[in-house]
Amino acid sequence: MSGLLPVEDAQARLLALRSPLGSENVAFSESLGRHLSRDVIARRDQPAAPLSAMDGYAIRFDDLPGPWTVTGESAAGAAPDGSVGPGEAMRIFTGAMLPAGADTVVVQEDVARAGDRVTLTRDGPGARGGHVRARAADFAAGDCLLPAGARLTPGAIAAAAMSGAGELAVGRRPRVAIVTTGDELVPPGRPLAPGQIPDSNGAMLAAMLAGEAEGPVLAHHLPDDRAKLTSALKELARRHDVIVTVGGASVGDHDHVRGALEDAGGRLDFWKIAMRPGKPLIAGTLGDAVLLGLPGNPSSAFVTATLFLLPLVRHLAGASTPLPPVHRAPLAAPLGEGGTRRDYLRARLENGRLMPMIGQESGRTLPLASANALLIRDIGAPARDRGEMAEYIVIA
Ligand code: AMP
Ligand code: MG
Repeated sequence: MSGLLPVEDAQARLLALRSPLGSENVAFSESLGRHLSRDVIARRDQPAAPLSAMDGYAIRFDDLPGPWTVTGESAAGAAPDGSVGPGEAMRIFTGAMLPAGADTVVVQEDVARAGDRVTLTRDGPGARGGHVRARAADFAAGDCLLPAGARLTPGAIAAAAMSGAGELAVGRRPRVAIVTTGDELVPPGRPLAPGQIPDSNGAMLAAMLAGEAEGPVLAHHLPDDRAKLTSALKELARRHDVIVTVGGASVGDHDHVRGALEDAGGRLDFWKIAMRPGKPLIAGTLGDAVLLGLPGNPSSAFVTATLFLLPLVRHLAGASTPLPPVHRAPLAAPLGEGGTRRDYLRARLENGRLMPMIGQESGRTLPLASANALLIRDIGAPARDRGEMAEYIVIA
């Protein structure tokens, strides 16, 4: 099929339309899902001193098997006052600094204490340094903890907070406008006249963009009217980095997105991708904004938003790897051969096996509710048996 752009080429061209936006500093509480614009370099050793990993007694390993005289206490939050000499032990708690002289912790379950005297009741620590967290065992000052472009997960935020930083430099997120098009669409929940349907794509795209874009992502609805669409696109392009339209991307008499982009003075970069669903995908620029035109069928909109919209938004927000990662798993059912476009089949990954869902028509909505993967079937791929490997993208 000539004239259809391979998915990878289309993704590369889309991301090349605009460079990532600038950087801003945010508090940890605002950082989830953001992308670092600089490496996070540790400003401190963690731990900064040897700490006890257990509740027990800090001792000198050479003094085993005891007994010991307890000379003091070290609790988390303050430096111990005093050191541990030969035959001495210091009561110690998890996270407390190891006193000078001590090199090992005997856990409290392994000893008996009477007054200030402690005796071993079990084997005790087998090696010097037992139950001690060594200085810099986690990381050392100067270590690169997280690379620029990494997405901040709760775990990454923990590491960044422990690094000594008080806030994080992250990529600015794009301002995104959703434009739904179609005379048949009505906001969900409103009464429907014959021929009308609820606008499901607007709600779906807003949900996919939650936490990914700057400010509220509003869905603007427009009828199938080229002039109205043209002036709306012009207006939105002034205040947004990305305009994502849905519907009206094909060649029907009522499909006006390409025409409106042209009339608004924009530039079409590509149109029509070698994929199914999602062939009539439009990408271009209008002023400084990137326009992405998704096809209106619910499954087409979902697949193209996964493969193009989210990567574009993440690229602009500073992601080093904005494209969804591709994984492999065995098939739970046989899979027929691939056609002339690459298929992204709505599928379920269960117990490590991929099952394509019943109902792959692009107009269907319900399979989207339970799919958790997009099974990728390449152009001309041979038919496969159950148990053979297939590639997929995680979607839920
Ligand atoms: P279009 O791309 O405009 O030709 O639309 C293709 C199909 O998707 C048609 O059946 C539309 O009614 C449907 N559709 C378009 N936009 C939406 C939307 N926002 N929500 C649900 N269905 C839609
Ligand atoms: Mg339409």
